[in-house]
Amino acid sequence: MSEVPKAIRDAYDPERFRADGHRLIDALADQLAAWHAREGLAVPWKPMAEARAQWAEQGLTGGELVTDLMAAARASTALAHPRVMAHQVPPPLPGAALAELVAALLNNGMAVAEMGTAAVPIELVVIDWMCKKLGLPAGAGGVLTSGGSLGNLTALLAMRQAHAGFDVWKDGAHAGPPLAVIVSSDAHYSLARTLRIMGWGDGGAIAAPVDSAHRLTPAAVERALATAGERRVIGIIAAAGSTATGAFDPLHELADLTEAKGLWLHVDAAHGGGVALSATHRHLLAGIERADSVVWDAHKLLMMPALVTAVLYKQERHAYEAFAQQASYLFAATRPEETWWDLGQRTLECTKRAMSFELWSQLRVHGEAWFGACIDRQIELTRALAAKLTAAGFSVPLAPTANIVCYRHVPVGLEAAALDDHNRAVRTRVLEDGRFYIVGTQLPSGYHLRSTIMNPLIEERDLDELVAHLRALCRS
Ligand SMILES: *Cc1c(COP(=O)(O)O)cnc(C)c1O
Repeated sequence: MSEVPKAIRDAYDPERFRADGHRLIDALADQLAAWHAREGLAVPWKPMAEARAQWAEQGLTGGELVTDLMAAARASTALAHPRVMAHQVPPPLPGAALAELVAALLNNGMAVAEMGTAAVPIELVVIDWMCKKLGLPAGAGGVLTSGGSLGNLTALLAMRQAHAGFDVWKDGAHAGPPLAVIVSSDAHYSLARTLRIMGWGDGGAIAAPVDSAHRLTPAAVERALATAGERRVIGIIAAAGSTATGAFDPLHELADLTEAKGLWLHVDAAHGGGVALSATHRHLLAGIERADSVVWDAHKLLMMPALVTAVLYKQERHAYEAFAQQASYLFAATRPEETWWDLGQRTLECTKRAMSFELWSQLRVHGEAWFGACIDRQIELTRALAAKLTAAGFSVPLAPTANIVCYRHVPVGLEAAALDDHNRAVRTRVLEDGRFYIVGTQLPSGYHLRSTIMNPLIEERDLDELVAHLRALCRS
């Protein structure tokens, strides 16, 4: 066998990595500084067909690592830019991005414990910490997985296995009566999708209408239960921070109901779980400790790069029951407990990135209180934005509970039917202009503009300038 060819050796050369790495980090740090200084656009938007043609034209040869990656960075939606007030995606902590680099370089797959000799125990330490922060009882546990959507699917599979009353995993979904859960009419779309993936069809999600504060109340759940007909309802899905408005459902009241009726309580805290770290706002999650399962995205309020999602169970054993399957080439033990260190038993994923490194390292470096203060600031800024929008004549239908605010422009003399089109047009103009980035959402009362304040580097002047920008666009 010949020696390793030069081209292979060069690509893996640690000195090349060192040199590229230093240049890349320098260039990224400069770019971050520019965004923080509000230079350049928040969204360098161009029609996607045009953008695709431009990138395609370059071809896939002749690249230079740092030049190429920085060109991609500069053409990207700039989440670090303080004029991005749009989706629930944070500018990640730069230290967490470095942790991700380490995870990528080590590439420990984690399905089995020996393929994650640091990543597996560190993940379990992070999971324990998250369970404690939510007040879940001793015996709680879970897993990190790739996103709230996959997390919701994972938790609902565990719910089904625990509460269906028959062995769905072994005998199939049609071996018992048709099942359903109660979801709020504001629930994230991933839940309806999950129930369809599980084979429950249209009737699998019985929607209970939210109240005027966009919360799911026990009274609405009771009314929805009465409409279940043939379907056997096995659980309720509550939101701790709904996607559209950021409303928090009354978890104690819902837990009273699920406990009385023997139903599973799943709390989708993908957005709001982080509030547990804020002494000021933690009360919004009161009752979450009574949930059977919780999904919590660290890539939202905990400032991690996507994706780092925790699926937590009040009883850790449910984590295994969701996927009660043996793959002998991976999980060879005869007693299931022996393979419980293999995190592949707890998630749909086989190979999984060592995503715990990000949160673990940043907690150790910055401390829990840093995250709480960051969340307090995001919520304070959101409330300030709501007040400024109201003062400028925009309609703000709901005082923000957390860091999401919905609003719309209501010009005098415009008919209700034309309001949606008008506000959609405003949102399109904001995007095409690119200096600010906001999004929109459909509420029962109509289409609204929507801002989530994720960037703690936003200052009051950014809020003022967004309002001025919107007013100028609305006038023209
Ligand atoms: C963001 C969100 C999700 C989806 O999470 P992803 O990580 O984007 O897949 C689910 N539910 C709620 C309430 C969310 O805010």
